[in-house]
Amino acid sequence: MSRPTVVVVGAGIVGCLVAREITDRAADAEVVVVDRDGVGSGASRRSAGLHFPRGASERVRRMTAYSEDWYRRLLGADPGAPIHPLPMTVVASSERAAEVHEAYLPSAKLTPVAAPDDDRVVLPTGAVAWTGEGCQHADVHALSLRLARGLRPAVPFREGIAVTELVSRAGGVTLRLGSGEDLTADQVVLAPGPWIHAPAWRDLLAPHGVRVKKVIALHIEDRPGPGAPCVVFHDEDAFLLPLADRGHWLFSYTCQEWDVDPDQSTDGLHAEHLAEARATLALYAPELAARCTSGRVFCDAYTPDRRPLVRALDPAGRIVFAGGANGSGYRLAPAIAAEAVDLLDLTSSRRSQW
Ligand SMILES: Cc1cc2nc3c(=O)[nH]c(=O)nc-3n(C[C@H](O)[C@H](O)[C@H](O)COP(=O)(O)OP(=O)(O)OC[C@H]3O[C@@H](n4cnc5c(N)ncnc54)[C@H](O)[C@@H]3O)c2cc1C
Repeated sequence: MSRPTVVVVGAGIVGCLVAREITDRAADAEVVVVDRDGVGSGASRRSAGLHFPRGASERVRRMTAYSEDWYRRLLGADPGAPIHPLPMTVVASSERAAEVHEAYLPSAKLTPVAAPDDDRVVLPTGAVAWTGEGCQHADVHALSLRLARGLRPAVPFREGIAVTELVSRAGGVTLRLGSGEDLTADQVVLAPGPWIHAPAWRDLLAPHGVRVKKVIALHIEDRPGPGAPCVVFHDEDAFLLPLADRGHWLFSYTCQEWDVDPDQSTDGLHAEHLAEARATLALYAPELAARCTSGRVFCDAYTPDRRPLVRALDPAGRIVFAGGANGSGYRLAPAIAAEAVDLLDLTSSRRSQW
């Protein structure tokens, strides 16, 4: 009997975890990962890599709980993985306190506190705060590389190779590659991050209304002290993250620039980004706000309902999309990967040629 063959397109955190999930479930499956760039070089390279135990809907809370547990087990099995647990404080206006309790997992064990455990962050009048558990952050680029290293050589990573066309036939899917080669597989998982408009899958994805939004995080040149907490500003959908491994703080705020092109999203911070971010942070930490002078700018794919999109795109169910991470693709990646692999038939006895 022949082994099932799957090509994963995209070697970001989602594609790497899809490949890992397939091999964990079906050791005999033949998996190839193809990326037009290097492993972990898309949104994953720019990610702040924060996981916090929150979800705005029941499905996202379930995915959050699954992913939190998955990363905890990964770190237990591989203590060198670049994942760093850290304390968390959540800040919200008192009118939105009930919303906070609904959004956070019970395992977060939110406990009211008078103020965040960092004297540079001051609560404005009417704000309330809690400490909570389950927060961690990762170097997502390094983690993607580490996952790929663990999968190689059984899973080949074809880097620097773009997929330019997908042709679904009765016997499988043929992927045309920029290198001039063809790959044929039983099934394909598309994990292209914000490259949702690539010609090979643009038309298949168009009915799902996925859009691309800029995502920005500012850097603050101040070394976080030991035990510094991540402070999540619930009302503003923003957070202040101590990056002890890099020796500086990061402030992520919600930028509302839509329909950007990932290939044009690396032109750096503009004056209006700095002004918006500083105005948000100044509500809580004016001293740090004044010191936001640099950062990271890229984008991510957003779905209309702000829940990840994991589904087959073709009638035969051979082409599965795994993405639409809505700026949460690190923290939800294990659950996205599991949902995507649930849609594959890994018992297939069809044999395709690479
Ligand atoms: C500044 C910033 C901060 C963020 N902070 C957080 C955070 O704190 N927590 C969190 O959970 N999420 C965060 N995110 C979001 C998170 O980083 C993304 O959701 C996640 O990295 C998406 O992973 P991915 O694997 O789907 O996409 P990517 O990492 O973008 O990978 C997609 C891959 O597909 C490849 N590809 C595209 N087109 C083709 C093609 N035609 N052929 C072959 N390969 C192709 C690309 O080269 C790329 O490597 C942040 C994002 C940004 C930009």
